[in-house]
Amino acid sequence: MFKNLSKNHETGRRLPSVYRALLARPVSSLTPPIEQAGFDERFARLDQELAEKGLQYLSIETYFGDEWFCPDQSTAIAIPFWLADDRLKSIERVFAGYVEGETEEEFMRLLRHEAGHCVDHAYRLSRRADWRDIFGDTDMHYNPDGVKTVENHPDFVVNLSGGYAQTHPDEDFAETFAVWLDPESRCWDIYRAKPVALNKLMFVDSLMADCGAKNPRKVFNQKICQARRMRRTLESYYRQRFDAL
Ligand SMILES: [Zn+2]
Repeated sequence: MFKNLSKNHETGRRLPSVYRALLARPVSSLTPPIEQAGFDERFARLDQELAEKGLQYLSIETYFGDEWFCPDQSTAIAIPFWLADDRLKSIERVFAGYVEGETEEEFMRLLRHEAGHCVDHAYRLSRRADWRDIFGDTDMHYNPDGVKTVENHPDFVVNLSGGYAQTHPDEDFAETFAVWLDPESRCWDIYRAKPVALNKLMFVDSLMADCGAKNPRKVFNQKICQARRMRRTLESYYRQRFDAL
């Protein structure tokens, strides 16, 4: 995909020369503490949305990782390190073609989605029989990239693009939770003609009323793939990510 790392050979996009020296630096040296990255307002917004919906006992940690994800069984959210500053975003744009979560709106959609996984882990929701009746088997093989999705499938809500809710029961729940949590989508009118998707939203609504009254279980937030500990260079990160060795 990129032989000499000065450009993406598939798209022809060139890396601005001023950023090339960064490729030789360890990811850890390029990543600031997340508290210094200017996202505090967005994290506070998430906390406020959760509290307004009655989930005031849920405590979510955030850190810079190598992509957007929530480590298994944790209530931590990894934010990709390449969102830390404009230089890293420019490099990501050249090699990935797109900076996921660059706009505030998309960032919040992703945060709400990952918060859905945190809620699941904190209250062991996907182990419940009623959860499985609605979303399916959480132990189903996980391979989101290998699932063919249908555009505008009526049985699923839409939060992230690409029909992501269709890829796995856990993702279906996280997407439904994100729509449920989003203050902008408080009115579910668009789902009135989609009874299966609406039923999922109503189930999450009743499930969260139940959770809100309880303390979540204590979980150990193991911060997997923490960018501040990644000694590999930025070049090595991109070469491995795109199998371009
Ligand atoms: Zn997810």
